[in-house]
Amino acid sequence: MNNDEVKRIKKDFPILKNIIYVDSGASTQKPKVVIDAISNFYSKSYANIHRGVYDLSQKATELYDDARNIVAKFINANFAEIVFTKGTTEALNLLSFCLDFKGSEIVLTEMEHHANLVPWQQLAKRKNMKLKFIKMKDDFTLDYDDAQKKITNNTAIVAFTATSNVFGTNNDVKSLIKLSKKVGAYSIIDAAQLVPHSKVDVKNLDCDFLAFSGHKMLGPTGIGVLYGKEELLDKMEPFNTGGDMIGEVKYDTSTWNELPTKFEAGTPNIAGAIGLGEAIKYLEKIGMDNIEKWEKELLAYALKKIQEVEGVTVYNPGKDKSAGILSFNIKGLHPHDVASLLSDDNVCIRGGHHCAMPLMSKLGINGTCRASFYLYNTYEDVDKLIESINKAIKILK
Ligand code: PMP
Repeated sequence: MNNDEVKRIKKDFPILKNIIYVDSGASTQKPKVVIDAISNFYSKSYANIHRGVYDLSQKATELYDDARNIVAKFINANFAEIVFTKGTTEALNLLSFCLDFKGSEIVLTEMEHHANLVPWQQLAKRKNMKLKFIKMKDDFTLDYDDAQKKITNNTAIVAFTATSNVFGTNNDVKSLIKLSKKVGAYSIIDAAQLVPHSKVDVKNLDCDFLAFSGHKMLGPTGIGVLYGKEELLDKMEPFNTGGDMIGEVKYDTSTWNELPTKFEAGTPNIAGAIGLGEAIKYLEKIGMDNIEKWEKELLAYALKKIQEVEGVTVYNPGKDKSAGILSFNIKGLHPHDVASLLSDDNVCIRGGHHCAMPLMSKLGINGTCRASFYLYNTYEDVDKLIESINKAIKILK
């Protein structure tokens, strides 16, 4: 992939005509094929799934199943192991309520998104458990010696982000899974910032659970995935209960449907799943390795350029250890003010705590500015970002 190819890719995204969008860590824009797939479903194939015997309902069921198959193949899982959720947040909440475990401690890292922190705080409160946090080093990577100390025979759950949404740090997922296995703890991966940007193979990783969101990978909002090993999902009690997730219902008792429907009570987000399937097809056509490589190139370029900005502090472990996320601050300026002035220039970045308040406290800051790149960002986007930051500095000083 090179800059010219990316310029062509950009044309697939109707909204990107007039804006510089570098906030894909928060959510991504959608290519026309995804928008069309959703629109076509509603205009040509819509009906509720599973229950109808008429053609339209069967067609909708087929499309929903196809989408699940696409997701399963994408991360090398089985059909039964893909549970559709609203997103990463719901997937992690599901686990925090449904896991059955031994052990009294939950190990997280200091760089978790609130979505992979608050549900575990609540579980700890309910079950009187202790939370432990693997420390982060000054270079924005995890301290793996500390991980060895924190993950012990008392550990029930190790839940960690694969990629920090604040620093871009790609954590050593395999070694954390290995440490979890050694003590018989569940390994749970928040892959919201990994699956959209890199090839992920759950069998190769050998993790117990992994969660991600459709809207961060060109798909629609309101659809996400909980991957779980079949034998583990099988043993778990359901999260939500009601229609579709049942086997047989009597007045006083019920049995459960097969996986994955056991975890999908009620009418699901059918159009969302279809849109996500289409997004994955689009990503695969370009190639996940190409996407990862391009984002690294762009990050390297941005890291070099931003060093020339007056009064800048960068929070990033360097391109070899990072996804395409660039957090920074400008001395004396609030991230919200910077983000707001950039908006006047049609440059979309994020300013704030990025749903990682404890991490901001640890760094002694109230937030950062964050530019996050994806397959549709060009060198020109980075140039415009830097130009706009320099302009904002002049105005605010
Ligand atoms: N984890 C990480 C690392 C994230 O970046 C996000 C989204 N910012 C989430 C979890 C939550 O994802 P969602 O809001 O789609 O549930």
